[in-house]
Amino acid sequence: KSGFATLIGRPNVGKSTLMNRLIGQKIAITSNKPQTTRNRIQTVLTLDEGQIVFLDTPGIHKAKNKLGDYMVNVAEHTLNDVDVILWLVEPTNFIGAGERHIIEQLKKTKTPVILVINKTDTVKKDDILAFIDTYRKELDFCEIVPVSALKGDNTDVLIQCILKYL
Ligand code: GDP
Ligand code: MG
Repeated sequence: KSGFATLIGRPNVGKSTLMNRLIGQKIAITSNKPQTTRNRIQTVLTLDEGQIVFLDTPGIHKAKNKLGDYMVNVAEHTLNDVDVILWLVEPTNFIGAGERHIIEQLKKTKTPVILVINKTDTVKKDDILAFIDTYRKELDFCEIVPVSALKGDNTDVLIQCILKYL
């Protein structure tokens, strides 16, 4: 089993930390080589069960100029080209303009979206549940997985979820 995943989310949400954590569990290759003009392989995670290729996306945000337009285009293509999208959020980010924009982009793609709630070590369990409820109303997520990238909580579950969609 092998396939492509992309990790999106606002700056500081823990994308790099999560990637390092996933790699730290079982690593094969990391690469920054350009693959196509559209996509850049960030990391290849090789497991007994299969291989997950994580693709980098330039951020998903509203374009402010031509370069921005191009970046947004690349990001939108990437969303359609992968097998699964991981949208990383943290429990303090309630839905604002940035999130609304991401939701609009995600609604346009048929690719399954996993909502990954990071930094669960910083909040109470009840708060996480309330947080999940607000997001669940906005989009049809194929899975919702709370993790702590920093502590490694539940990241093994996340890997198993990703593999289901490859
Ligand atoms: P990125 O901009 O999305 O790549 O975010 P980073 O991976 O650089 O993380 C931003 C900050 O959040 C860093 O200070 C991390 O140590 C912290 N961070 C990331 N994941 C967690 C987590 O699960 N729990 C806590 N408490 N902090 C985290
Ligand atoms: Mg980063």
